[in-house]
Amino acid sequence: MESSCIFCKIAGKEIPASIVYEDSKVLAFLDISPANKGHVLVIPRQHYVTLLEVPDSTLAEVAKVVKKVSGAVLKATKAKDFNVAQSNGNSAGQEVMHVHFHIFPRFKGDGLLAGRLNRPALVYEDGEAKEIMKRIREALI
Ligand code: AMP
Ligand code: ZN
Repeated sequence: MESSCIFCKIAGKEIPASIVYEDSKVLAFLDISPANKGHVLVIPRQHYVTLLEVPDSTLAEVAKVVKKVSGAVLKATKAKDFNVAQSNGNSAGQEVMHVHFHIFPRFKGDGLLAGRLNRPALVYEDGEAKEIMKRIREALI
C-alpha cells in the first residue's frame, strides 16, 4: 500500500469507485473519465508501478480478470469490439503510477484511434455509471 496512491486507496475502499469485479488479488472498476462508456481499469490490489514489477503469478490472475471483464463489458455495452491498453512510465503516458490495464469498448466511427488513451474523456450523466456498473456485474455472473 502506497499511502499517496489513488488506486491503492480505491483497493483499500478509502475512496469510492464503481467496482465491477473484485477478488483477493485483483480489482476492476470504471474509469472516471472514460474513453467510451463502460471503460474499465483492472489492477492488482498490491502496489506495483509498471508491468515489469508484477510477479508472474499475479500477472496471470490479472490477465484472467482482463479477459473475463472484457467479455462482460461487451455484453453490457452491446459493443462487438474493444481495446486493452496499458502504459508504463511518464513518456508512455502513464498518469497513475499503480499498474493498470484499460479495457474500453469500441464502436464503429467512435473516432478513437486504436488503443489511444490521450482522448477527450466522456462524462457519465447522473446514474449512468451506476447503471453500466450494474450491467457489467450482471454480465459476469
Ligand atoms: P493512465 O494514463 O494509463 O495512467 O490512466 C490512468 C486512468 O485512471 C485515466 O484513464 C483516469 O481517467 C483514471 N482515473 C484517475 N483517477 C481515477 C479514479 N479516482 N477513479 C477511476 N479512474 C480514475
Ligand atoms: Zn497503488
